[in-house]
Amino acid sequence: MHRLFSVVMFADVAFPISSYQTFTYEIPGDFLPHIKIGVRVRAPLGRRIVQGIVVAKHKTAQYRGKIRPLAAIVDDQPVLDQGLWQLMQWISQYYLTPIGQVAKTALPKGLSTRYQPPTQWLVRFRAFPADRERMERRAPAQSKILKHLETREEPIPVSELGLLAASPLTVCRSLAEKGFVELFEEVRLPDVTGFTFDPVHKEILFSKIQKSILSDLISGLKAKSFQPFLLHGVTGSGKTEIYIELAQQALNQNRTVILLLPEISLTPQIAGRFRAVFGEAVALWHSKLSPAARAWTWKRICSGDFKVVIGARSAIFAPIKDLGLIVVDEEQEHTYKQESPAPRYHARDVALMRGKIHQATVVLASATPSLESYYNQNLGKLKYLHLPERFGGARYPHVHIVNMEQEQEESGKPGQVLSGLLLEKIEDRLTKKEQIILLQNRRGYAPILRCGDCGEIEMCPNCQVTLTYHRVGNNLRCHFCAFTRPSIPQQCRNCQSPNLKLFGVGTQKVEDLILETFPRARLARLDMDTAHSGTALTEILEQFARREIDILLGTQMIAKGLDFGNATLVGIINGDTGLFLPDFRSGERVFQLIYQAAGRAGRHRKPGEVVVQTYNPDNPVIKYATRLDVKKYYNIALSERQELNYPPFSWMVKVEFNGKKKTNVEQKATIVRRSLPRPYKGLEILGPAFCYRERLGGRYRMQIVFKSSKTVDPNGTKLHHYLRQNLGPEKLGRNRGGVNVFLDIDPYSLL
Ligand SMILES: [Zn+2]
Ligand SMILES: [Zn+2]
Repeated sequence: MHRLFSVVMFADVAFPISSYQTFTYEIPGDFLPHIKIGVRVRAPLGRRIVQGIVVAKHKTAQYRGKIRPLAAIVDDQPVLDQGLWQLMQWISQYYLTPIGQVAKTALPKGLSTRYQPPTQWLVRFRAFPADRERMERRAPAQSKILKHLETREEPIPVSELGLLAASPLTVCRSLAEKGFVELFEEVRLPDVTGFTFDPVHKEILFSKIQKSILSDLISGLKAKSFQPFLLHGVTGSGKTEIYIELAQQALNQNRTVILLLPEISLTPQIAGRFRAVFGEAVALWHSKLSPAARAWTWKRICSGDFKVVIGARSAIFAPIKDLGLIVVDEEQEHTYKQESPAPRYHARDVALMRGKIHQATVVLASATPSLESYYNQNLGKLKYLHLPERFGGARYPHVHIVNMEQEQEESGKPGQVLSGLLLEKIEDRLTKKEQIILLQNRRGYAPILRCGDCGEIEMCPNCQVTLTYHRVGNNLRCHFCAFTRPSIPQQCRNCQSPNLKLFGVGTQKVEDLILETFPRARLARLDMDTAHSGTALTEILEQFARREIDILLGTQMIAKGLDFGNATLVGIINGDTGLFLPDFRSGERVFQLIYQAAGRAGRHRKPGEVVVQTYNPDNPVIKYATRLDVKKYYNIALSERQELNYPPFSWMVKVEFNGKKKTNVEQKATIVRRSLPRPYKGLEILGPAFCYRERLGGRYRMQIVFKSSKTVDPNGTKLHHYLRQNLGPEKLGRNRGGVNVFLDIDPYSLL
């Protein structure tokens, strides 16, 4: 007799905790066939049962302590293919984030290949029994329900019969058995159609230059190898049409497509165009999907039902098979960078890596590329394709600059918000029934409430920022945390003077001023206060598209990819907003915003005009943005960055310390800084210093910034090595004194 041979196998599991450690478990026999790398499991961790992901499988356990068995399997097949798994490992290494935390971002909670959409029971009347009275006496609940159903033609949900019987489903079942009703179960598919305009079919005739760009891109696709492109196309040059044609080509090769958009809710038109061409093969993936819609979409992506995934940042992790093409639209947008939690990844850079792993074509597209991408095409790392023409014969807008200092001197109205020229142009468009877009990149009514006597300013008690007055709701609000002061103080907290004054201009104030001058204009304001829900937003955009709104006023939200043929005037109320923020990217951001907003004017046959109001007409950012001269400004900006050794000339990493007690934060930052060994040649370490926004959400913030020059560290490996050696989790120590420490690789800003 020999004993049954039983194999004991072990699995290493990574959990979403801030440790690079993995944990070993025994695989129970009946789990064995299902445990593969990339399968999610539940396992005991300390006293809890926690979900993790299997990262390795082996026959002998390295760990010598007590090994516990896995508790449950979440997926019946790996949720990651080899390529996605490789991508997650790269993210873990590059962004110095434990793989379990990467898994948590790439595979958010509530997603499972086993997901089934909820069902509901429906019931429909068929007939009464021959002896109705007998039923009334013997089975009053059945009788009541039958009477209720008799009047209804359509089947109704059993759940609606709760008032007629304690357990209506049981009653309906007995009725169905006797043939008096028809009872059936129906799957309730979640609504996944949000954020698309109705599909628009367009006849496309490509210009010569578009054809030549397309043929370059298509040969890239045909090569079936990693092909990164930078498509620099001015706004209105027909980039969407190129994406669609290219996606069609990928589908013809039996490959799939991911299209990343900076913010899907702001670009319903692009999603609508894709739906028109590819119909049901298109999945939308974004944070505003309901949990059910999210789970349902994800499952169907896994099973290969979709060929095109359109979404915001996290769509780059879509588990789509046979990926052939990734398009990153408006690749310069800051929304591609995840600020919190870790991994603080940049979806554009992850897209390039995923393209490399899958041998796919990656198209970074923009009218105003990021300086990084612009620089990379200079170096030849990205193939540069330039679309200088506007599409379909549309012309560039004519840009007027208004020097507001001069304007106010001449008009004798200090603090004047709307220039004579802008008002004149608005009136002109209103009479011609053409539409107007106004950009004021600040929401609320006025960003500052100041004492007229002592100068005291109302600040947020949790953050180092001023409170903004909101006329809607008549309160003061912090735009960084949820703090709200329900009413306006009657007197200064410092000198008790009642002489409090509002300064500065937000969208609500512009709205008032416009309506004072043009009381009959139909104006809609689009900012984070009015666009609280996705439907509210799509609704406003659709109304504007239907020309039921004359003036669309908003923050940067309106500067994105919107395409409205009848909007022939764009007014930028204050072109200087954000210009003087102490951040290496502030100039680039303001340039991109003005350029993009200007691009909203006259996108079709009608010529457009742009009015930019500024106090700094000679500032190179303003000057070249209003001349729509990308090259000139980018060359200036690049030489400034080079001089100061900022990206793209260096690799930059920020270490942030934050906590409620200022002294603890300072102490921790100082200790960490002192513990760092001498930097290698080419590494610059700045700080610790308090961040520009010294306090946010009640936490003090300090940072140490590392800049490693690319001349000595071309691939960033030296800096990575230095950080791993000196700022790994074991070096940073535990969270003593309530101070959080985190690393931000390639930070978007240093504010
Ligand atoms: Zn005062
Ligand atoms: Zn605050």
